[in-house]
Amino acid sequence: MNIIDTHAHLDQLDHLDEDLHNAVQAGVVGVVAVSIGLDSCRRNLEIRRTRQHPLIYVGMGVHPSEADKEEAQECLSLIHENRDALTAIGEIGLDFWYKNVRKNEEKKQEQRRVFRLFLEAARDLSVPAVVHSRGAWQECFETVKDVGVKKAVFHWYSGPVDVLDDLLAEGYYVSASPSLAYSPQSRAAMERAPIERTLIETDCPVYYKDPQTGEGFQAQPRDVVRTLKIYAQLKGLEEKDALERLNRNAKEFFGIKD
Ligand SMILES: [Zn+2]
Repeated sequence: MNIIDTHAHLDQLDHLDEDLHNAVQAGVVGVVAVSIGLDSCRRNLEIRRTRQHPLIYVGMGVHPSEADKEEAQECLSLIHENRDALTAIGEIGLDFWYKNVRKNEEKKQEQRRVFRLFLEAARDLSVPAVVHSRGAWQECFETVKDVGVKKAVFHWYSGPVDVLDDLLAEGYYVSASPSLAYSPQSRAAMERAPIERTLIETDCPVYYKDPQTGEGFQAQPRDVVRTLKIYAQLKGLEEKDALERLNRNAKEFFGIKD
C-alpha cells in the first residue's frame, strides 16, 4: 500500500516492535515519530537509530502538557546536536483545556514561552512544525504566523471553521486521525480543507472508538489505513487516488526524499 503515518508517539507504545511489524504488514512505509519532551526526544532518536522498517522520521519538541522553560532549553540543545536526525519540530503548541492550566495564567504564559522557542527553532532550521492547538486554535495560528514559520500542520484539527480558513489561506496544513469516523468537528474540517493541504495520522497510542463495533481500540501506526479509508469515503474519492495525493503531501511537507 505504501502509506505514511504522519503523527505517532512511538516512544509511548508498549509493544513497539510488534506494532512496527504490524505496520509493515499493513503497508506503512514511513512514520513521523513526534516527541513530547526531553526523554521522549531521546527515546525517539534511539528508535530511529535502531529500527529500519518502516522508515522513522523524528520530530523533537516539548508538548504543551509538559511545558517547562528549562526542559525546553535542554531539548533545544539536543535538537541542535541531532540536526541530521531531525525532520520536524513537534509536538509543540498550546492547550488551555488542561484542568491545572485553565485558570492558571502563569501556566498559560509558560506554554506560550515554550511554544515560541520551538517555533523560532523551526523557522531558523527551516523545518516544519507539528502543532497541537486544542482549545487555543486562534492563538496557535496567530503565533505560528507571527513567528514566521513557513510550514506547519495543525494536527488533528477540530477547531472552528473561520480559523481553519485563515490557516489554509496562509498555506498551512491540517491532519486527520481515526476520530474522523465520528468526530463532527474533525469531519467538518476535513470536508472543508482541500486534500492538497491535508495529512493523515494516528496519534497513536490514543484510544478511539470503532464505530463499526462500538468498541474502543488503542491505535498503532497501522491504523493510519483506517484514517485513509474514512477520509476517502468522506471526500468521495477512490482510496488509491486519495492515498497517492496524501502521500505526496506528507513527502513534500516533511521533505521526505524517497
Ligand atoms: Zn500527538
